[in-house]
Amino acid sequence: MFENEYISLTLGKQKNIALIAHDTKKADIIDWCKKNYDILSRHFLCGTGTTAKMIAEKTGLPIRGFNSGPLGGDQQIGSRIVEGKIDLVIFFSDPLAAQPHDPDVKALLRIAQVYDIPIANNRATADFLITSEYMNTEYTHYVVNFKKKIEERAKTL
Ligand code: PGA
Repeated sequence: MFENEYISLTLGKQKNIALIAHDTKKADIIDWCKKNYDILSRHFLCGTGTTAKMIAEKTGLPIRGFNSGPLGGDQQIGSRIVEGKIDLVIFFSDPLAAQPHDPDVKALLRIAQVYDIPIANNRATADFLITSEYMNTEYTHYVVNFKKKIEERAKTL
């Protein structure tokens, strides 16, 4: 496809979902997880440290916690997107509060865009994503062919 500029990747039927909420949005994401408990329980969940711990305690959903966001948790999620280990991100971010790890937040949004990973940054988008028919099926998408990019760059630079 597109003369090998892109490669096709398939997100499995069971999705690896990363959940993140800034502090003012933690109650909101817990409420959202409770409302969507049945759907979420059919997938694999992970999240930044505090968000994951609170979701686990308040909803009972199994969820793997990475480091806390300001201590590198967003970057850990970003690196797993690069490795193809995360299929979808639910990110309840706070647009009205300065974050100490703002560069990490931007980096996560950017890398999700690069790898064509669905990412919700507010509750309405999360509702649309979680009710998508693609939550129950495989989904094939197209990602920049980085192997080819490296070959070309190494030849021309
Ligand atoms: P936290 O991190 O879940 O550890 O609070 C979230 C964030 O602020 O990115």
